[in-house]
Amino acid sequence: MTARILVVDDIDANVRLLEARLMAEYFQVLTASNGRDALEICANGQCDIVLLDVMMPEMDGFEVCRRLKQDPKTMHIPVVMVTALDQVEDRIQGLEAGADDFLTKPVNDLALITRVKSLVRLKMVTDELRLRASTGQEINVQELQSDALSLDQDKKTKIMLVDDRPASYERLIKFMNEKHSVTLVTDPKEALFRAADEEFDAAVISLSLIDTDALRLCSQLRSLERTRMLPIIVVAQDEQEPMIIRAMEMGVNDYVKRPVDRQEISARINTQIKRNLYNIKLRDSVQQTIEMAVTDGLTGLNNRRYLDSHLKGLYDKAASGSQSLSVVMCDIDHFKAVNDTYGHNVGDEVIREFARRIKKNIRNIDLACRYGGEEFVIVMPDTDLTLAKIVAERIRGEIALHPFIVENGKNQIPVTVSMGVSCIELSDASSDDLLKRADVALYHAKRSGRNLVMTEAA
Ligand code: GH3
Ligand code: MG
Ligand code: MG
Repeated sequence: MTARILVVDDIDANVRLLEARLMAEYFQVLTASNGRDALEICANGQCDIVLLDVMMPEMDGFEVCRRLKQDPKTMHIPVVMVTALDQVEDRIQGLEAGADDFLTKPVNDLALITRVKSLVRLKMVTDELRLRASTGQEINVQELQSDALSLDQDKKTKIMLVDDRPASYERLIKFMNEKHSVTLVTDPKEALFRAADEEFDAAVISLSLIDTDALRLCSQLRSLERTRMLPIIVVAQDEQEPMIIRAMEMGVNDYVKRPVDRQEISARINTQIKRNLYNIKLRDSVQQTIEMAVTDGLTGLNNRRYLDSHLKGLYDKAASGSQSLSVVMCDIDHFKAVNDTYGHNVGDEVIREFARRIKKNIRNIDLACRYGGEEFVIVMPDTDLTLAKIVAERIRGEIALHPFIVENGKNQIPVTVSMGVSCIELSDASSDDLLKRADVALYHAKRSGRNLVMTEAA
């Protein structure tokens, strides 16, 4: 994972220190010694993450952060505030300015790399979503931003806290209760089941469980299908760094060190929840893209691309199991006249209603596709020629009998359809033969006067 990190600090030695550590992890590093330069670099889209010193002359880190978060061009760039250890006030102010994370000086190596990596992952999913938002219409940027905001404001997120020491969990609950709804689980064995059964937004797990290895729980949560995506944040002592490293290696998302800071834990939880939310959105959008690729937008039926790939499978299955398989090819009669008389929009209405009537008259296992403009194909597994003709005849009748009501009842259009039916034969070489016979039959139907169902032989 590589990314461009902008380090902003007015003291050159601080810049060099962070730069060296980040470059050792193969990040690309850009530097700026004041807020104005930093804003310009961000506005030009040259960096993925900003590490921002608080104390700077002219424009301090808070102001830089606020401006970045107010500008639609830069608001998606994660900002890490680098604050002095004892300045709790700074953190609050940083959060209010929209900072995504904190690092305290002197910057701990593990903390630096963990946080940067975690934010790079967040940035990767948001970038992908933004790209889709600008190319497809499935996600809009507004929606993305309001999602991020609703995390802080509207609804309380659901957190599972796994901790068995009262002194520790009482404090953690007190800290988290304000922004999150916390469920305490004191038995780690129970934690696994509850995480799988209940819809938590994140899990916070103490690494100092009395009788149990907390890392085992983390690894189980990561391997269980239902909890694989659940954001996990562990709470650790300073001397537990080796355990933290193990935890991060097995896919734990972040850690907080004791004594826990109220702002810090909340900010970390929110970052992880946000990232998970974006990930889910991204996955849904991929799913949607796949569905869109095989669905006809006008009718909601499958499209020709889907038919082409799916028919082969159905054909092979029928051929190998010696089962029948029938195809009906439909073409609306004189459809051009509909367009010419009523306009293209009404034509679309007719096509939609036509698709609805087909769908109503076939089984769930049958496959109806829009093959082209006003041509449709119905594939019927386990159906012989006689039965296929009956189904086709039923659809033809239903189309011809009831005129199509369009433009909210303004007009009624009589519509008829011609159909060609074919059934799998031993001599067929492939599904193409099946389609071709249906097409020839359709041609016969047109030639014989339309509003007819025919087979090739007829
Ligand atoms: P035939 O009985 O011989 O099938 O006559 P036809 O007029 O239906 O045949 P033809 O294939 O010549 O015309 C089909 C028309 O369907 C032409 C085209 O403009 C129209 N068409 C194709 N796709 C769409 C669509 O998505 N919406 C609308 N409204 N019209 C479409
Ligand atoms: Mg046609
Ligand atoms: Mg036609």
